[in-house]
Amino acid sequence: MTPARAHDICALLTCPLYLPLERLVASPYGALFLPEARARSTSALAAKFATAFLEGCGLPSESPLTVVTDVGGGGALAKIMKVRAVMKEKRTEWSAVGELPVEIPLPLPYRFHSIFACPVSKEQSSAQNPPMLLPCGHVIARESLQRLARGTPTLKCPYCPVVSHMSACVRVHF
Ligand SMILES: [Zn+2]
Repeated sequence: MTPARAHDICALLTCPLYLPLERLVASPYGALFLPEARARSTSALAAKFATAFLEGCGLPSESPLTVVTDVGGGGALAKIMKVRAVMKEKRTEWSAVGELPVEIPLPLPYRFHSIFACPVSKEQSSAQNPPMLLPCGHVIARESLQRLARGTPTLKCPYCPVVSHMSACVRVHF
């Protein structure tokens, strides 16, 4: 318990001595019970409960619409439109479905990968076939890793010339 929290807890434990509320508001603990302070703490608490509940359900704390408008309005949409215009001018098109031809940096809270698709097998990862990090830094699915190793304890990364030991590969949790 931090000293700040200890002070809060002591104040909350002691303040009922001044009940009823009319007397409590006039007591040294009165600031805790002013309508503005109560509204502030209630809304902060409600937001904390909502975040914890959504996290427990495995849902994002922000609505998908909020994320889309924040990311799009934060410059991503403008960059995509610019890239599209440049590519149209040069008469080229990006062919990779679901991928952008340029890196678009996102604000930290929006950097998440809820889905991992193995770049080798193109299959979506699962609990049985999780993403595995190779010592070189590349990530592929466990089944692809085993297929590349062909029963040997080592494998060559499909993206760079590094040969790694199977035991050095670690599971990645998203
Ligand atoms: Zn590699």
